[in-house]
Amino acid sequence: MKLYTFRSDAAAAPTLGMQTADGDALIDVAASAAATGSTLPFAAASMQSLIESGAAGLAALRTLAADPRVVTRPLGGLRLCAPLPRLTRNVYCVGWNYLDHFNEGAAHRKAAVELPDRPTFFSKASNSVNGPFDPIPFNAAVSDKIDWECELGLIIGRRGRNIPEAQAMDHVFGYTVINDVTARDMQRYHGNQWFKGKSLDGSCPMGPAIVTADAVDPHALDLWTRVNGVIKQESNTRHLYFKLPRLIAELSQGLTLEPGDVISTGTPQGVGYARTPPEFLTPGDVLETEVAGIGVLRNPIVAVHD
Ligand code: MG
Repeated sequence: MKLYTFRSDAAAAPTLGMQTADGDALIDVAASAAATGSTLPFAAASMQSLIESGAAGLAALRTLAADPRVVTRPLGGLRLCAPLPRLTRNVYCVGWNYLDHFNEGAAHRKAAVELPDRPTFFSKASNSVNGPFDPIPFNAAVSDKIDWECELGLIIGRRGRNIPEAQAMDHVFGYTVINDVTARDMQRYHGNQWFKGKSLDGSCPMGPAIVTADAVDPHALDLWTRVNGVIKQESNTRHLYFKLPRLIAELSQGLTLEPGDVISTGTPQGVGYARTPPEFLTPGDVLETEVAGIGVLRNPIVAVHD
């Protein structure tokens, strides 16, 4: 199942959509519930509410989708939003989770670095969430070292703390595409933490869909970053150093994961700062982020001055 949050026009409120079997339209869930007189176990316009409703919500959605009276909208005419447009918590992130990216970072510092025996966690503030096709603001007075990091995003479906690895995947609702856009200079301005340089407004484009956990093998997905059509990162999630069950188990130690929490699972090699010479995004660039089977983000970099 491929789920979207969309606006039917610029003035409309975000609402929930489910891709039709032929793929070129969305079932408008709220309009379809009204048209068919269905009572759903979640708020029909809300991805967050659907996630919180668990298996009962997905079952109701499948039943609704099979009704011939559903209201569909051609995908081409819709404005797609981040699937969870208003996160109430930070995006959890994982650093150094592809060996080749770890090695390019170590080579850049010209220092031998030991492989970690536990994942590195940090977060991006919720203000960083951006739509799949929306501009990424670029303010040269703030940072001119804006870099890319294509990543598989994981959406938590079931609350849990101290989740054992063997049960971790039962807590996953689905997957999305994320670019962990990073202000490389700011990443190192503020002491030994990454939060500030990872949290600029609009620096977490996300979407365009959430694919439910039953529909993909998350450890076998090709992923890419392209800048102006040129491939900069190309890998596969089978190269994740810490696999998803380990990430969920470690992150949930004494920390309750909630439905709708997002974990960005790390980026492969090919980031801009580690290139020779280093490369960064500039206004006018188009940043494309793709995970096979989930979708493509296409975000223009746009100069702002305030
Ligand atoms: Mg990252």
